[in-house]
Amino acid sequence: NHATAPVADEPSVKVVVRVRPPVSLPTDGKDLWFVRKTAADSLAVGDRAFAVDGVLDDRASQADAFDMVGVPMIESALAGFNTSLVCYGQSGTGKTYTMWGPLAAMVDSGSDHTDLGVVPRVFQNLFSRIQSRQESSPEKQISYQCRCSFLEVHNEQINDLLEPSQRDLQIRENPGNGIHVENLTDEYVSTVEDVNQILMKGLSNRKVGTNSMNLKSSRSHVIFTCVIEAWSKGFSSNGFSTSRTSRVTFIDLAGPENDEADGAAKHCTKEERHLKKSLSKLGKLVNILSETPEPQKVDLPYEQSRLTHVLKDTLGGNSRVTILCSISSEHRCRSGTLSTLRFGERAK
Ligand code: ADP
Ligand code: MG
Repeated sequence: NHATAPVADEPSVKVVVRVRPPVSLPTDGKDLWFVRKTAADSLAVGDRAFAVDGVLDDRASQADAFDMVGVPMIESALAGFNTSLVCYGQSGTGKTYTMWGPLAAMVDSGSDHTDLGVVPRVFQNLFSRIQSRQESSPEKQISYQCRCSFLEVHNEQINDLLEPSQRDLQIRENPGNGIHVENLTDEYVSTVEDVNQILMKGLSNRKVGTNSMNLKSSRSHVIFTCVIEAWSKGFSSNGFSTSRTSRVTFIDLAGPENDEADGAAKHCTKEERHLKKSLSKLGKLVNILSETPEPQKVDLPYEQSRLTHVLKDTLGGNSRVTILCSISSEHRCRSGTLSTLRFGERAK
């Protein structure tokens, strides 16, 4: 049961796979068992086996995805850890669906829409947990303040998704204070409705392209961050109120195009080159992180791409990262599926 797993036992990098159902019905028998879940923590693609930390098969619901990846993030965040979710995979495999769900599902946030993605579910749950913590603390000794920002990385450029006129923002690094994106909009939130407004605004400003597999394919990486500051007298021994900060970050990556299934990716544009480069730098970094016992103590190649640079504090140091590898069960997507799973394997 993920809800009761002790927070301290969580590994620093976890890899979860979600298999999306086929877009079209298989025309021959090939698709049927091409990708299969073989245990709670392993799957097979053809005859190649992959060991992971969790598998969401093609029947898994959005609520199942939230239970597996969202609930542990909430536990970590409330315990004062930085936590992040990275969705990685080919275009059209369901990264955006898993992360946010359709915007229409957020419009009526009061209803339990079945398509609602992990992020709105996390904030629904987080704010109700915060509220009950505050109510159960007799002298109202604990208080929380949350603020959000939303950016995209496109063509090695950082753009503010909450203020689209703010483009090509710069990364600043102060010793002791970490990474900071200059002039990036920060908005205070206290309800899930506040968060959903921000998500809808930001996602509709996202850079998209068109290709034949997925009509609105995302061509940028988007990063949504919520900084949670908790104030309590209980955190200090001298009775003064002190704060503890944790950050929750959601990274919805742009996928490399499916070269086999998709004619639109035949010639490699500048956009495609930037995209491939940033994903490969991210892959290398995550690989090093998983093999380095104390990553905060060594110099890692964060600055080789904007994506890895802006994620320096999110991925390194005292943080828990979940990589959700998004794959299709279709035979025609096999090479993308294998490369996505190899990315996940290197991260473990
Ligand atoms: P990506 O972000 O990886 O490019 P999307 O999330 O945009 O892919 O998904 C492509 C399409 O497939 C969308 O229309 C989405 O609603 C649908 N889809 C993705 N995953 C699922 C799923 N598990 N169940 C039902 N529909 C899905
Ligand atoms: Mg997407």
